[in-house]
Amino acid sequence: MDKNKRLAELLGVCWHEIIKGKDCLDGFSGKRVCSCGKFGYTDEVKYQHCLINPDFTDVRLVLREMQKRDDFDMFTSQLNAYSFDEDGYLIDNAISIDYILDETGLLRDRAIEWLERRKI
Ligand SMILES: [Zn+2]
Repeated sequence: MDKNKRLAELLGVCWHEIIKGKDCLDGFSGKRVCSCGKFGYTDEVKYQHCLINPDFTDVRLVLREMQKRDDFDMFTSQLNAYSFDEDGYLIDNAISIDYILDETGLLRDRAIEWLERRKI
């Protein structure tokens, strides 16, 4: 399964994909129904909906969505890199630079693993 789709599911974020009429050839009319319930008779539905799906290889998007959860602190505490302020106090929610600079979906994959473990 698409990892972006999996994380969207785990987070309860809407994932758009044509569930009826996906066999309609480009350029031909036919009812196309998106998983969000909207539908149309042209390719527009396919492109308008499927192109707005979240790309969780963007670390900021993962953090933005995870931050909406009550257990966000628990998630970040497991990812934490130790970081100290100028007075030597531990800074909460310091996330490793490895995650911040990654563009391959490393944090997305960690979020999936973490959320799947939480559901058990
Ligand atoms: Zn949709």
